[in-house]
Amino acid sequence: MGTIETKAFVMNSFPWKDRHRLLHLLTPELGLITALAPASESLRSRLRGVTQLFSLSDFTLSSQQSRYTVKDGSVIESFVAVSQDLDRLAAASHAAEVFSDVARNDEPQRRIYDLWAYTIHEISVADDPVFIARMGTMRLMEEIGVAPCLEVCVCCRGAIDEPWRFNFREGGLVCRMEMSRYEKEASITLSRGAVDLLRHIMKASLPKLYRFQAASEIRAEVSCLADRWIEDKMEKRYNRLSLLDQCPDFLIPKRHVSEQQTLPDEQGSPGENGL
Ligand SMILES: [Zn+2]
Repeated sequence: MGTIETKAFVMNSFPWKDRHRLLHLLTPELGLITALAPASESLRSRLRGVTQLFSLSDFTLSSQQSRYTVKDGSVIESFVAVSQDLDRLAAASHAAEVFSDVARNDEPQRRIYDLWAYTIHEISVADDPVFIARMGTMRLMEEIGVAPCLEVCVCCRGAIDEPWRFNFREGGLVCRMEMSRYEKEASITLSRGAVDLLRHIMKASLPKLYRFQAASEIRAEVSCLADRWIEDKMEKRYNRLSLLDQCPDFLIPKRHVSEQQTLPDEQGSPGENGL
C-alpha cells in the first residue's frame, strides 16, 4: 500500500454505504480518480470539509491497486459562493460533468487540471457564471484537440472573410466558395464579435482566458454554438444548463447582470490559492 500527497478538486461527492462518501477527484498528476472518504458523513469527522463538492484540498491518500482512500486532508479553497447561488451551482455542475467525462477517457493531463482551476474560480466570482462554464468547456475542446477551425477555411484551408459562415459538419468556418456546397441546416452565420471571442477562448493564456468583454448578443450567439459543439464532440446530451434555461423567471429572482463584464487582471487570480 502506498501513500500519495496531492492537491485535488472534488468534481463529485456522494454518500456510500453507511457513513462514507465516494469522491471523484481531479488531480494534477493522476487525472480523475475515485477515492473513498471513510466515515466522512459523521458530524465529527475531520474529513467532512474536504468532501464538499467543488472544493480544493490537499489530500493524503492511500492507494492499493488503483483504489484510493482518503487518510487526511485540509481545505485550501471551498468556493463557497458556488453552492450559494443557483446559477453558479448549475454552471459548475455542467462544467464539472464535461471535464469529468474528458478526464475519465483521456490520459492524465496537467493542462486539464489547470484549466479547471481557472474555470471554477471564475464561476465562483463572475457576473455570468453560466457563460464562463460554456467558455471553459469550449477551451477544454481545444485542449483535447477537437476545437473548431477558426483561422482558415476548414475545407480548402484558404482565407476566410465576412460573412462568417460556420459549418458544424465540417467543423469550422468555411469560405464563400465552399458555402454553396452545403445545405443551410448544418451552418450558421456568426458576427465578427463572436468569431473574435471564440478565437480568444481557443488561444488566450489561462490567466487571461476569462479577461474578455462581450455584449449580451455576442454571448447568446457563442452560447448556442458552444452547446451544440460540445454535444457533437462529446456525443452526449448535457442537461444541467437546459434545466436552468427552462426555469420560469418568476421562480428565480433575477440578479442584476451588467451588459459588459469587467474583470481587472489583478483581481483574484487562482494563483493566490496556492495552485
Ligand atoms: Zn474554402
